[in-house]
Amino acid sequence: MEVLYNSTRSNSQPLKASQAILKGLSEDGGLFVPDHIPALDKSLSELSKMSYQEVAYEVMKLFLTDFTEEELKNCIARAYDSKFDTTVIAPLAEAEGAYFLELFHGPTIAFKDMALSILPHLLITSARKNQIKNEIVILTATSGDTGKAALAGFANVEGTRIIVFYPKNGVSPIQEKQMVTQKGANTLVVGIHGNFDDAQTGVKNIFSDKELAKEMDEKGFQFSSANSINVGRLVPQICYYVYAYAKLLAEGRITEGEKINVVVPTGNFGNILAAFYANNMGLPIAKLICASNENKVLFDFFSTGTYDRNREFMLTSSPSMDILISSNLERLIYRIAGNDAKKNQELMAALSGQGKYVIDEKMKEGLADFYGNYASEEETAAVIKKIYEDCGYVIDTHTAVAAAVYEKYQAETKDAAKTVIASTASPFKFTRSVMNAIDVKYDSMTDFELVDELSKIANVKVPNAIEEIRTAPVVHDKQCDADEMKNVVREFLGI
Ligand SMILES: *Cc1c(COP(=O)(O)O)cnc(C)c1O
Repeated sequence: MEVLYNSTRSNSQPLKASQAILKGLSEDGGLFVPDHIPALDKSLSELSKMSYQEVAYEVMKLFLTDFTEEELKNCIARAYDSKFDTTVIAPLAEAEGAYFLELFHGPTIAFKDMALSILPHLLITSARKNQIKNEIVILTATSGDTGKAALAGFANVEGTRIIVFYPKNGVSPIQEKQMVTQKGANTLVVGIHGNFDDAQTGVKNIFSDKELAKEMDEKGFQFSSANSINVGRLVPQICYYVYAYAKLLAEGRITEGEKINVVVPTGNFGNILAAFYANNMGLPIAKLICASNENKVLFDFFSTGTYDRNREFMLTSSPSMDILISSNLERLIYRIAGNDAKKNQELMAALSGQGKYVIDEKMKEGLADFYGNYASEEETAAVIKKIYEDCGYVIDTHTAVAAAVYEKYQAETKDAAKTVIASTASPFKFTRSVMNAIDVKYDSMTDFELVDELSKIANVKVPNAIEEIRTAPVVHDKQCDADEMKNVVREFLGI
């Protein structure tokens, strides 16, 4: 059955998957959502015999219904290849009584690679299917990891350009170095004087600027988004939850149909929403555990039903989760409002006007499968040290937020269900915070000394993504204020 995509903010004409991928964001400012969540049409035991690529096909074909089998398999084959340093693509590591789903084996060693290595292929295929002649301009705001993963995915892809805005003082030194050393004539990286929310708001404003869109079209350009609001990112993220379940089943760690918990370190709410969709496809998930850092706007939302961004923005050691407006939550809000675009639109208007909204009791019932909690900086550091000392396994700061929240969840509920923790970045990406958590003596070392030391104590080879930037020259040094973003875009495109 065909899946069509509606906007969360109006009842405009539903789009086919390829059209929704091309557009990224609806003109009314809404996000595209599938009109229904398709059920898995292969049994869990059939899936347990499949490779990552095969599982990805079984999941994605159900959502991207206007792609042919050949088109989709082609995109999958190009995405999940030797760019990943393991053939299983997303391995599971058992430590401290949980299964860490390592989503960081791609080219930029963060989970964003899982979706961003396939998005360029989905986009180019979508453009071809819709007879698009314009050059596609990818515009992205990043809290650190999306930027590099998108740059790596789109660099030198014919028919595309990519512009990345990141908060100049809001990303780790390694994240920044990864971005500003990006090669490719079609790439532009800009540090903005502001935080991630400023960057994201700026990008959203540029997207909804109708005059600019018209001018762009005349000059042969059109925007698309690589941010996690694009359904072309959301859908590939569903696959690894299905794959993780299938793997646990294949290894005899769970029985078919046994419910597992999933813990997700959350920022923009894309990753955990993918787990929610997987659950709605029929994947047996008991609890969706949403882990926040000190920017605990989601924890407060799950506890009270009030989403309130009016608070101090905290810079933490898990910068990719330093977010006060979790964009993808809108998809869940729309759904628990009974797919009511008008009601959702009112709540989102309240969010942009007053910085907050309150959901009613009926909507709250729709959140029953979620559990939210958060971890302080101290708790995050403590769990890194504990897991290293107990198991010799080193996790990054984002994953540690999830691990710390899982500890709280277990202490509170005594729930013994098998649990998968989404491990969203390699510890090599946040070396200083990780090593300091293990022992403060490391603080005197340089970033690259820390990399080598981490490799030694964790007994893990330094990933290629890190080796590459040791000596790479900086090729992007542009900075701007948040209100200058549009001009920067114009300048790069020469319009
Ligand atoms: C982006 C990111 C997150 C947050 O994921 P969302 O889908 O935005 O909730 C968590 N950890 C890392 C390492 C990330 O890069």
